[in-house]
Amino acid sequence: MEYRTLGRTGLSVSCVGLGAEWLEGKSADAVRAVIDSALDCGMNYIDVFMPEPAVRSNIGAALHGRREKMLIQGHIGTVFEDGQYKRTRDLAQTKASFEDMLSRLQTEYVDVGMIHYVDSAEDYAAVFETDIIEYAKSLKAEGKIRFLGLSSHNPETALRAVQTGLIDVLMFSINPAYDFEDSTADIYTQMEFSGLKADGVHRPDSARRELYGYCEAEGVGIVVMKALAGGRLLDASQSPFGTALTVPQCIHYSLTRPGVTSVLVGCSSASEVETAAAYCSASDAERDYSSVFAGNPQIQTAGNCLYCGHCKPCSAHIDIPAVFKLLDLALAAEETPETVAGHYASLEYNADDCIECRMCEPNCPFGVKIAERMSRARRIFG
Ligand code: SF4
Ligand code: SF4
Repeated sequence: MEYRTLGRTGLSVSCVGLGAEWLEGKSADAVRAVIDSALDCGMNYIDVFMPEPAVRSNIGAALHGRREKMLIQGHIGTVFEDGQYKRTRDLAQTKASFEDMLSRLQTEYVDVGMIHYVDSAEDYAAVFETDIIEYAKSLKAEGKIRFLGLSSHNPETALRAVQTGLIDVLMFSINPAYDFEDSTADIYTQMEFSGLKADGVHRPDSARRELYGYCEAEGVGIVVMKALAGGRLLDASQSPFGTALTVPQCIHYSLTRPGVTSVLVGCSSASEVETAAAYCSASDAERDYSSVFAGNPQIQTAGNCLYCGHCKPCSAHIDIPAVFKLLDLALAAEETPETVAGHYASLEYNADDCIECRMCEPNCPFGVKIAERMSRARRIFG
């Protein structure tokens, strides 16, 4: 397993974590088997948004005696009502459901308290202009949550939230298809891939790129949901690319976006956990997702780098996508953020090492003028 630092929280998090939604309705033994497998594979991060009492209790029982081995992301704003999950902004319901979660998980705190599912401007106001945000802050002050997070599918709302400075961790829906969808479309439209399936040329959504760049520069760690689009990207008949992607390709795409620390994969069995964790032993060729875009005439990246790494190897050992990710972050800002300059300075080889041999350029499926961009990086980073 590979571990990454979750932004400014400083937590060391497995790059593949566990989404627990498919554990609802499973027996206590089945839940324990999934959590055993996750820990055996080195996963140390679990997302628990479900308010359903039994699944909370089963997860708590499975973690009993080894709570410190798993970082828990627990949601603020879900409630179990009439036998169903419901999102709520009612303060009394929110408080009761959060306390119930702590009690059933057999813990006094969760590592990340995640304000649940804030997409619309109206809902943003219902959280950030009410007692809900004050309650979330009080949980942090009391130590019932160590860090505050927020989950969203809308890049504009998510950006507003992280710009408050209150949000340490963002949970966001990222996969190769959603990144080409219109950011104003709701999540249900995105899940149908409606934008990508429409005629015309599709480009990476700029609001999403801005969000990821902001999080990277400001130290807001991103954890990813819906990296496989609920499995639709793994099925050629449903994938908007006309071809099935693999689990390692989907995970790698998300992990190569700026700011992303971990991809949380929803698993309902030990074997699904192992399939997700196998990303860590996959080869570069197995992770490479460039062919998914490159063969599609409707996908236009206009010479933008997608950080796919297909251009490797570099004769000067430069990690080309790492340099270009930082270059894009610097270009997006009026002034190069200190964090970005710091990351660039920590690279073992950088644009200064480029000998302009252009050996890499024929390998790039997107026509990026690599030597030219290296020279731009040299000028920007000095
Ligand atoms: S042009 Fe620069 S980045 Fe490309 S292979 Fe040569 S040295 Fe590496
Ligand atoms: S330069 Fe091209 S091949 Fe290399 S990481 Fe960027 S998009 Fe991929």
